[in-house]
Amino acid sequence: MEPILSVNNLKKYFPVYGGIFLRRQGWVYAVDDVSFDVFPGETLGLVGESGCGKTTLGRCIVGLYASTAGEINFQGSNLAKRDRQQLKSMRLKMQMIFQDPFESLNSRHTVREILEEKYRIHGVKNQHSGPQLATLLETVGLSPRALARFPHEFSGGQRQRIGIARAISLSPDLIVCDEPVSALDVSVQSQILNLLLTLQQEMGLTYLFISHDLSVVKHVSDRIAVMYLGRIVEMADRDDLFASPSHPYTQALLSAIPIADPNAPKQRIILEGEIPSPENPPTGCRFHTRCPHAMAVCQKEEPVFKPINHECDTHFAACHLL
Ligand code: SF4
Repeated sequence: MEPILSVNNLKKYFPVYGGIFLRRQGWVYAVDDVSFDVFPGETLGLVGESGCGKTTLGRCIVGLYASTAGEINFQGSNLAKRDRQQLKSMRLKMQMIFQDPFESLNSRHTVREILEEKYRIHGVKNQHSGPQLATLLETVGLSPRALARFPHEFSGGQRQRIGIARAISLSPDLIVCDEPVSALDVSVQSQILNLLLTLQQEMGLTYLFISHDLSVVKHVSDRIAVMYLGRIVEMADRDDLFASPSHPYTQALLSAIPIADPNAPKQRIILEGEIPSPENPPTGCRFHTRCPHAMAVCQKEEPVFKPINHECDTHFAACHLL
């Protein structure tokens, strides 16, 4: 099967300016040489601590940030080689759901205006009649009466439903979900996750699902990529990753997931220190400053991202222990 999205050696560096003359003094290596494929109809979970570059990666894919280097191929086309008009029509098929539904919705516009704006920006006509907008809202579990109301009149969960309605309004093929439930109460999170899963089945959607919460990612993903300091360090099918995590960072993340059974044996791996600055990432393996298994070679040589054994072509990790 051909991937719907193929990201090859993607880099996104942000310049750092300082001094009296505000000259460039360095770079923040937010995303540094990341490659992966997403296949039609699947959900690829992208997980890591805050600051690891996962949101920047999602924003590069949907075109909110220009990438520094690398390729993004969507439905077989390299986005960098498309002209503005072609890019605009391709963006119709690629949408984003944001972390903070309140921030991402214009508070001075009614829900009707928010949804109509999406059609107008993309030059889509005859789609924003009242009945069609009402149907769109019902699809995400809201009453059509919501069309005349403003974002501040809704709860957080309802606002995220409006954000989802906006994302699906143009019948996309791929949606980048950037921490779509992390700003919501736990009781509402599962409702939104279940809505996303239902829409995926009904509309044949593909998701890139970004989250810092492994238990949320586990609930929705088919495959999971673990990101650390701008790089993917492990990628595998969901069940495989949870059954046999190979990278020490993934092992530490999994050990931090609470288990409902208080008698279940569990040994939490505590990572010492903070995630290093992406402005000055460690040499060799970027995880060596926190890794409980670090060896001398880890400081000097960057581990290759490769299959964890010869028989497996679906489980990859980057670690000198493998
Ligand atoms: Fe730890 Fe070394 Fe593996 Fe990096 S390469 S995760 S420092 S053992």
